[in-house]
Amino acid sequence: MIFVTGGAGFIGSNFILDWLRAPNAEPILNIDKLTYAGNPYNLSSVADDPRYAFVQADICDELAMSTLLSRYRPRAILHFAAESHVDRSIHSPDEFIRTNVNGTFNLLNKSLSYWQALPQQDQADFRFLHVSTDEVYGSLEPDDPPFSETTPYAPNSPYSASKAASDHLVRAYHHTYGLPTLTTNCSNNYGPYHFPEKLIPLVISNALAGNPLPIYGDGQQIRDWLYVSDHCAAIRAVLARGQAGQTYNIGGWNEQANLHVVHTLCDTLDELQPRAQGSYRELITFVKDRPGHDRRYAIDARKLERELGWKPAESFESGIRKTVQWYLANGDWVAQIRSGAYLNWLQQQYGDH
Ligand code: NAD
Repeated sequence: MIFVTGGAGFIGSNFILDWLRAPNAEPILNIDKLTYAGNPYNLSSVADDPRYAFVQADICDELAMSTLLSRYRPRAILHFAAESHVDRSIHSPDEFIRTNVNGTFNLLNKSLSYWQALPQQDQADFRFLHVSTDEVYGSLEPDDPPFSETTPYAPNSPYSASKAASDHLVRAYHHTYGLPTLTTNCSNNYGPYHFPEKLIPLVISNALAGNPLPIYGDGQQIRDWLYVSDHCAAIRAVLARGQAGQTYNIGGWNEQANLHVVHTLCDTLDELQPRAQGSYRELITFVKDRPGHDRRYAIDARKLERELGWKPAESFESGIRKTVQWYLANGDWVAQIRSGAYLNWLQQQYGDH
């Protein structure tokens, strides 16, 4: 059995769905607090799969984490749970420190006690895989080389600072106590089940509703985009073949300015679901830039390609097309989240969260 924390979020739910597509997949226990970003609907297709189980729990909860570890005895923990939205971290950083720093610290502590009590062979096989971001490296100038695993950390937002702190704790638990950890630092993901507060799903759902498409500043901020299933495949490769104590950068070699991303989305929508009149591009509206907005991120993923044989399967164009097609086919999913019906349902199912 493997544990996945934050498996009801965007990347975690894509990971679980991809993982369970393999007929011989090991069972998964999904541990998620179900914050506003956690959506168990994403996993409804596997809800009855005997290899899948869900527990609503907070990674900061000491008793819950140690009880789950001793009851289910996982051979790996894949740690996705986090507060993940940079804009939210600017307005209310507290929850980012609590979950991303204290929560990871708690999970590491409980994992360490569990791991130390394992028989020797199981100790050698155990992995704690920490899913992190390229934002820990800060911002690049136009001519800088992409971030590699040896780029010094320089986080600029409360979100990236909290993720950087958690990366350092994971590193320390390997070097100090020998816990077999792996850390992945990935670029911006996009694809199905992406919460509509993030750029790509926000633009698609606003465009379809005929609402303005907000672009921060001049729209020339550059991000390195990766289709989410390529990220999931990279995590599987790192879990299977990564060397304990190592970090691996994951990226798609797909540097795109935000404005170009929005233009591509508008053009794809124009083709797949034309407006009655004009182009979706007419909805673009430039808004005041956010404070501390990093100018450019780019990932050098050669270590992962060379050592573990991973390569992204999707190009930017094919990934964007698949994403737009998914949102067109799953309008109910977005409508549910936007209407608040989903939050009401969560409240009924799970009480306050
Ligand atoms: P998300 O916000 O969509 O999902 C986060 C999940 O964690 C949610 O299901 C939420 O309910 C859960 N969660 C939050 N606090 C929790 C807590 N205290 N206890 C238990 N569960 C909790 O995030 P995402 O975009 O899927 O990102 C997943 C991970 O990948 C994060 O660690 C993020 O830093 C990292 N990452 C994201 C991207 C990206 O582009 N989205 C890129 C690189 C790395």
